[in-house]
Amino acid sequence: MTEKKEYYKTLGVERGSSQDEIKRAYRRLAKKYHPDLNKENHKESEEKFKEVSEAYEVLSDSQKRANYDKFGSAGVDFGRGGFEWSNFTRFSDVEDIFGGLFKDLFGGNFGRAQGGSSMFDDLFGRGHTRADAGYRPERGSDIRYDLEIDLEDAAMGMEEEISIARLDLCPNCSGTGASAGGLETCATCGGAGQVKRVQRQGFAQFISIGSCPRCRGTGKAIKDPCENCNGNGKIKVNKKILVKMPAGVDTGSRLRIAGEGNAGERGGPPGDLYVMIHVKEHEFFKRGGNNLFCDAPVHFAQAVFGDEIELMTIEGGTVRLKMPAGTQSGTVFRLKNKGMPDLRGYGKGNMLAKVQIITPSKLSKRQKELLREFDEGEGAGNKQKKSAFWKNKKTK
Ligand SMILES: [Zn+2]
Ligand SMILES: [Zn+2]
Repeated sequence: MTEKKEYYKTLGVERGSSQDEIKRAYRRLAKKYHPDLNKENHKESEEKFKEVSEAYEVLSDSQKRANYDKFGSAGVDFGRGGFEWSNFTRFSDVEDIFGGLFKDLFGGNFGRAQGGSSMFDDLFGRGHTRADAGYRPERGSDIRYDLEIDLEDAAMGMEEEISIARLDLCPNCSGTGASAGGLETCATCGGAGQVKRVQRQGFAQFISIGSCPRCRGTGKAIKDPCENCNGNGKIKVNKKILVKMPAGVDTGSRLRIAGEGNAGERGGPPGDLYVMIHVKEHEFFKRGGNNLFCDAPVHFAQAVFGDEIELMTIEGGTVRLKMPAGTQSGTVFRLKNKGMPDLRGYGKGNMLAKVQIITPSKLSKRQKELLREFDEGEGAGNKQKKSAFWKNKKTK
């Protein structure tokens, strides 16, 4: 955590670079360092690839970038283990560069490695290979559901019932598409499910055996279609699903609910449901990894004499902060373990409160007099410093 990260340097871009420039730089470097394209120095390139990906993760996100610009690497907290692939949310930006390669690298590498739960899985890491022309059982397609939640809910974890539209097997015909007794032996293949094809190429003759195109390998054909599904075997249903969200999720977290996607084909298993988390902006807190940033407005006198102030926490409670006498505006106080819980269970981040001194605008006559008196009484040294500062300003 003490290590200083030079994200701009890592990507080879200027501090003021546009999002487009940053994206282009990352794509170029990702291609250069992708370990599957660097078989010889695999290990090194993997490190480099991770480094540039970390930099891109931060600089491509306006909030993370702002925190980084303001607080340096302390402003971006990826949890105790530092940046992991589970922190990377930008797959879609680069997926098209690598296609399959990218999938291999990240397959199964996602999220909750800890605890053995496969609830968080990689949306892109799963094999989505469609069954070939042979009519084999095919897994149903996945469903994506976007869920917006409050930062408080992300901090505490929550349960929410969502409603999705999906294709289920028709309960009347169990997915066959035929009414009761409405199946007959397929006339094309005689019930074998397979047909012989003969192809000629010059003098040679090729005989191939493949699935029957009419019954799709089942050996049965529909004589009388099921009324409930019109012979499709599937029906559209609205299904309510209880989503249990662990504490610590962030925008970009993917929650996988196995088997709640669309029904499969020809006896294949159903697909999965992926709940994509979007955490709403919070009124007081800004999030940077597991850290929370906020302002702590205090009165001038409080800053001068020191005070104990009370700040609200994301969990709904309060925390006391002892401000020493002579606290300057902009001072950042760290409140340990008052940030967001780590998704992987590594404790909690910190809360970083930045002191903001409120300049009084409505003063009584007496208060004004006292302030003037105070100003005139200020040491000569301070006055000098002030005028030197103004002089510098003018010459620039
Ligand atoms: Zn049916
Ligand atoms: Zn057939």
